This record gives sequence, structure tokens and C-alpha cells, in this order.
Amino acid sequence: MEEKGTKKHEYEYKAEMKQLLDIIIHSLYTHPEVFLRELISNASDALNKVRFKKLTEENILDPDSELGIKIDFDSEKHTFSIEDNGIGMTEEDLINNIGTVAKSGTIEFVKKLKEENKPFDENLIGKFGVGFYSVFMVTDEVTIETRYLNKSSKGYSWKSKGEGTYTIEEIDKKERGTKIFFKLKDSALEFSEEYRIKEIINKYSNFVDFPVFLKKEKINTVSALWYRKSGDLKDTELNEFYKFISDDFEEPLAHLHISVEGTVNFKALLFIPKSAPMDFLRTRDVKSINLYSNKILIQDDCKEALPEYLRFVKGVVDSIDLPLNVSREVTQKSPAMSKIKNAITAKILSFLQEIANNEPQKYKEFYKNFGPLLKTGINTDFSSRDKIIELLRFESTLLKKDELTSLKEYVSRIKENQKEIYYVSGEKREELEKNPNLEYFRKNSIEVLLLTEPVDIFIVPTLMEYDKKHLKSIEKADIDLAPEDKIEKPDDNLSKSLISLFKETLKDKVEDVVSSKRLVDSAVTLVVGKNALDPQLEKMMKMMNKGSVDSKKILEVNLSHPLIRNLSKIYIADSNSPLLKKCIFQLYDGALFLDGTLPSSSDFIKRMTELMEDATD
Ligand code: ADP
Ligand code: MG
Repeated sequence: MEEKGTKKHEYEYKAEMKQLLDIIIHSLYTHPEVFLRELISNASDALNKVRFKKLTEENILDPDSELGIKIDFDSEKHTFSIEDNGIGMTEEDLINNIGTVAKSGTIEFVKKLKEENKPFDENLIGKFGVGFYSVFMVTDEVTIETRYLNKSSKGYSWKSKGEGTYTIEEIDKKERGTKIFFKLKDSALEFSEEYRIKEIINKYSNFVDFPVFLKKEKINTVSALWYRKSGDLKDTELNEFYKFISDDFEEPLAHLHISVEGTVNFKALLFIPKSAPMDFLRTRDVKSINLYSNKILIQDDCKEALPEYLRFVKGVVDSIDLPLNVSREVTQKSPAMSKIKNAITAKILSFLQEIANNEPQKYKEFYKNFGPLLKTGINTDFSSRDKIIELLRFESTLLKKDELTSLKEYVSRIKENQKEIYYVSGEKREELEKNPNLEYFRKNSIEVLLLTEPVDIFIVPTLMEYDKKHLKSIEKADIDLAPEDKIEKPDDNLSKSLISLFKETLKDKVEDVVSSKRLVDSAVTLVVGKNALDPQLEKMMKMMNKGSVDSKKILEVNLSHPLIRNLSKIYIADSNSPLLKKCIFQLYDGALFLDGTLPSSSDFIKRMTELMEDATD
């Protein structure tokens, strides 16, 4: 079909173009395989233009031919061709769109690059339409045969070695559209292998909205689902699509379809996995978002589309506001990207809130897997903080094991004069329930949140307050408790002397000894000063950084406890009785033991044996 025309013109690339070509071919693309992505992308653009023209024009060549892309290759001759029945190009188009880099700024850019001998700035190059020239990474000479879609148009053949010149020649071409063909360089022979071509198409162009045929076989199976109406998407399609992009074998827990038009335009199809991958919290490079520009993949793992704390979300984001050919750095800094990120973040958080409201069981499942990551957003994304706070869930003393409450629910149950939200942290619910500091709360049916998730202790204290109520650790000295009740206890003077004796005995082991308002069944407990770190946090920091010193604690003494009342009787009889000191040490060590910070149990056991010996004497 290629028939030599009469007029053949040789054109010279402009000097800037030559330099630019050199840069493009040698620096822009580190992966030569993207040449195919670029050619398919151009073909897809050209086909989209036909779709559009068909709406308004009548004089169209082959108006009824099925829109598509054909790829052919010869693994012996190492030839490659790609053909579309898109809009095609006129002679002028070839000169203006292929022969020149028409986008503004190019010339300045190249000059500057040359004058300053500066390293290649991908921020600038990202703005130029230079995708076609990536073909010179895999070949030394390219031919384009093309015919514009008007019936009156002629066919042209364009040839270039990507060096100084190109030629344009009139040819006889019957069909509308563009065919690009070439012989592969020795370094690029892999691209005449069927499996390799399929692999690349699957990777970059599987969701192109036109059929791609490889030697007559249609190979892009999945169409761009995110361009369809939400109501038209079938569950089976969504599941298949999710599995394809996520490498997950399970079906997703939920999906979210977004279409935004306005200052930024994008569509997104996002999924929440059913379970978290192993060691999820510690691995950073879990693939999350595939970034598309008008159905052409530009990044298969775009970290900029989502904040870190939402990286469990998987899916596709497609925006016509993002240029093709961009490097990661360009995407990162693109203003469109940050708008997309903000919009997606807001949508996902509202979506999660919806699940939490309407499908609490599903939300619980989600929270179990991804809650620990989600929570970290509280400290990293200030603008979404309020939304994330509503998504937090905790165990609590008023709920059964494994049931969770939100802060809102906690506040809805709060007692009339309760001004604070209480929490206590520790490793396991079973251990937390034995904490003596809980006694007062239990007795008065005041709800206490049980923070058993390690990350909670980094998060909850930073919340400061919720619904104008302070969040307080019950292990701190200054909690605001109701007035003491009228249980019998030693008179004031005797109480003071006894407390002093505790202080003298324990000396600098404790920061202070005070009379307790919170104990019911236990004789003593340890609390921390109001400005101290949460004890659980301190324990964790100690584990991470062995050198740090324990901050001293405050010992609270339950003056109504029978044991303490007995001690005051002994004190009246003989304030120097050795039994007093022995008991004080034993009580202190016992409190340390419950706290999990008793350094060695041998003294404790020895003293206990002595006390039992005395008691049984
Ligand atoms: P970009 O696609 O960013 O514009 P390219 O270098 O990939 O940059 O392509 C340059 C131009 O060449 C395109 O904008 C288009 O006008 C034209 N072109 C390339 N391939 C085709 C094609 N298959 N059909 C029609 N026009 C094409
Ligand atoms: Mg292009």
C-alpha cells in the first residue's frame, strides 16, 4: 500500500529541537518500554478526537469503522508497527505537531540548559509534549503514515532518524488514521516478543478505552471502569478490577467511586481491602494508587495521591489535569496533584464515617485492620483531624470485650456532672481491669476508655479534649473526682503523721505520698504527676531507648482501707515499730509490681515471708 508520491520534502529540525531530541532520547526515560505507552496514548488521543468530531462533522472518512488500535510485530525481522483509525494528521500537523515541539517555553528552556550547562530539569520538560520521540529509545528510524479524517485529505509519509532532519512525502493511503512503524535497535529486540508487548500493554494501557489488538487478538480486557456511571458498575467487575490492580486474592471490603469536576477534575475508583497485608504497619512500599491521565497510566504507585495514613486504600485516580510524561518529582509538586489529594482525603474520610454510621460491623472489621494507621493522621493531617477523631474507636469498661465505642458515644453516656473523659492504657484488657486506679470509677460506674492499641498512647493524649471535655489518664494525680464519701478513717492529725511516715520511709523512691480519693479495695496505688508522661508511654519509650530514667511517681494511700487503719493503730502504740516500715516497703513494692515496674521480686518475696512468719507466730 505504500506507494511513493511525487513530492518529497526534506525538513530540518530547528537547532533547539535537535538539542531537545538529544535530551529526550538520552535522559527523560529510564525505561525504554514506555515508548509503547506513549504511542498507545497518542493513538488513544487520536481516537478520542474522532469520537468528538463525529458529533459535529459529516464529511468523515470511514465514519463507521470500529475505533481501535492494532499492533503488529515480526520477531525475526524485529519490526514493530502500531496503527490507529483516529483523527490522523495533515501535512501541517506533521510539521507543527511532530516536527516541532510547539509548546511554549521549550526554546528558552533548551537555551538555558545549554548556556548554564545545568542538569536536566524534569520540572520543565514535564510541560512539553514530547512523548512521540520516546520511540527513538528503541529505534534509529521511524516512519509515520497518516491521513486526516476529512474525505478530501491526502495521505502522508513522515520519516526521521531523530537527528537533524525529517522528510514528508505524499502517499496513497486509503484509511483514515495513523500507522507508525520501525525496525528495533539491537538493544530493544525484546519489543518484538509477544509476551513482552503483552506485558507492557497490561501494565500501562490495560484500561485504554479502545480495543487494542495484537496480531488481531484483542488484549486489553478491562475497560476504564472509573469512567462509567456508578450505577452501571457490577460487583463482579469491580471485584475483578480490584484483584487486578491490588494483587489481592480476596474481594475488597468496600469501594468508593468518585467523580469531581471544578477547579480540579478527576475520577477515582478506590477500594478498601478486607484484610491488611502482613507486617503492614511497618512496610512502607505497599502499592496504593495507580495514577492515570485520561485512561493512560502515568504512575503505578503514586504516593502523592493520598496521605500516608490512608495508604491502605487501593485503586485508580485519573485526572485530565495531569500531564503525561511526567516524572515523580513533577507530579509531587503539581498543584493539581495536591488538590486531588485533598479532595480524595475528604471523600475517603466521609466514606469511612458513612460505613461507621450505617454498617458498624463492617467498620469494626476495617478498624481492626487499618485503625492503627488511620489514627496516626491525627498527628500528621491537621486539617482532617476533626474528621479522624470521629472515626476513632476504643474498648471501654462499660462495654463487653471486643466491643468498641466512639468518643461521641462515650460522651452521650456521660454522667451529668462528669467533666472529663477518662482513659487508661496498657497492653491487655485483662491486666487493665486489675488496675487499682480503676476502683473508684468502677464503683461509681464512670466509663473509662481502655487503650490497648500501642499507638493509642501516642494519639489520645494529643487530642487534649473532645466536645469540650478534657481527656484524662486515670493514672494522673489531678483527676477531678467527686468529694470523698464517709467511710471510717483515721482522724486528720493521725492521717498526716501516717502519710509523713510513708514519706520518711520511702524517701526519694517517690515524688510524694498523698491520701487517695480514687481507691476503694486497694490500700495503695501509684499515679503520675499531672505533667508527667503517661506511664504506658514511658514504658514504651524505655523499651525503645534503654537509657531513659523512670520519672518518680506519687504513692496514693487509701486511708479507709482496713490495713491502713491497722497501721495507724500500731503507729499510735509505737511509732517506731519495725513492722510499720516493713509494711510500707511491702505496700510500695506491691504497687510497683502491679504497675509492671518492680525491678526484682526477691526482696518482695523475702519480706512477705517474714510478714507471714510474724503473723503466724
Ligand atoms: P503529546 O501527546 O503530549 O501532545 P507527543 O509527542 O506524544 O506529545 O505527540 C505530539 C503530537 O503529535 C500530538 O499532540 C498529536 O497532535 C500528534 N500525534 C502523535 N501521534 C498521533 C497519532 N497517532 N494520531 C494523530 N496525531 C498524533
Ligand atoms: Mg503523547
